[in-house]
Amino acid sequence: MLNIQNLSKTYANGVQALKSVNLNIPKGMFGLLGPNGAGKSSLMRTLATLQEADSGSAQLDEIDVLKDKDAVRRVLGYLPQDFGVYPKVSAEDLLDHFAALKGFVQSGERKQVVEALLNQVNLWAVRKQKLGGFSGGMRQRFGIAQALIGSPRLVIVDEPTAGLDPEERNRFLNLLGEIGEQVVVILSTHIVEDVTDLCPQMAIINQGEVLLSGEPLEAIRSVEGRVWRKTVAKDQLDVLRAQMKVLSTRLVGGRPVVHVMADSNPGEGFEPISAGLEDVYFGELSRHRAKAA
Ligand code: ADP
Repeated sequence: MLNIQNLSKTYANGVQALKSVNLNIPKGMFGLLGPNGAGKSSLMRTLATLQEADSGSAQLDEIDVLKDKDAVRRVLGYLPQDFGVYPKVSAEDLLDHFAALKGFVQSGERKQVVEALLNQVNLWAVRKQKLGGFSGGMRQRFGIAQALIGSPRLVIVDEPTAGLDPEERNRFLNLLGEIGEQVVVILSTHIVEDVTDLCPQMAIINQGEVLLSGEPLEAIRSVEGRVWRKTVAKDQLDVLRAQMKVLSTRLVGGRPVVHVMADSNPGEGFEPISAGLEDVYFGELSRHRAKAA
């Protein structure tokens, strides 16, 4: 269990990336959802001991995350947002190298660890190939393999599905879903479906603030009955936005379909729909923006 209290961080340029963040993150998959610039990477890097917080605390079971960095690193698996690979090295060789860095000094044992991980992420068949020739999805699966070396208790993956095509993304998420339930896995993402598909617990973060945390299904239940949909003409959009709380607009067959949050039917032509996590997400973001304005 990871307990984060009043965690704050302001960069030298004055950007307040984390504003007194409080989160209780249980074992299992936890989705940290927020738009670009929300502070997700700042939080991930702090938990991964790569940068200092200004104040607050983070406790992973008995480990004081902010103070006892060595202890964190022994139990941490981290896939950073900008995970680079050496293009001219094979998957097997680089994983072997990472395993040696993680403390697997005995070559026999290391070989077993590397073999098991390559199989787990389905890269065994291409283990001799150079990483430079890997697709985005293969590279991310390699990234997960290196994060899982040494059976970590805390796994942090920062925006891992950005840029993957749907099939690769699916494959990657399935792989994440297979990580044991005794591990804290934090998945940071700006893609709502990543969380819907995979995470029994989540938080929404924007401008360094946690807007909501808990179970996605409960969050969806809280807006149930208040989400309405209508297909509209393009030139009606501005009027609608001025009149009601428009959550999202999406083109379907070239025509805008709007989702609106309202306690009762907001107008002619609207139909009630069953809410999704995306409605919760956009609702929270728009509430937060309205508050800040
Ligand atoms: P996210 O991962 O959600 O996109 P980040 O944590 O990367 O968000 O960024 C949060 C805010 O902090 C943004 O406004 C970003 O520009 C700023 N920021 C991130 N890293 C730095 C840094 N090293 N120095 C200054 N500002 C930064």
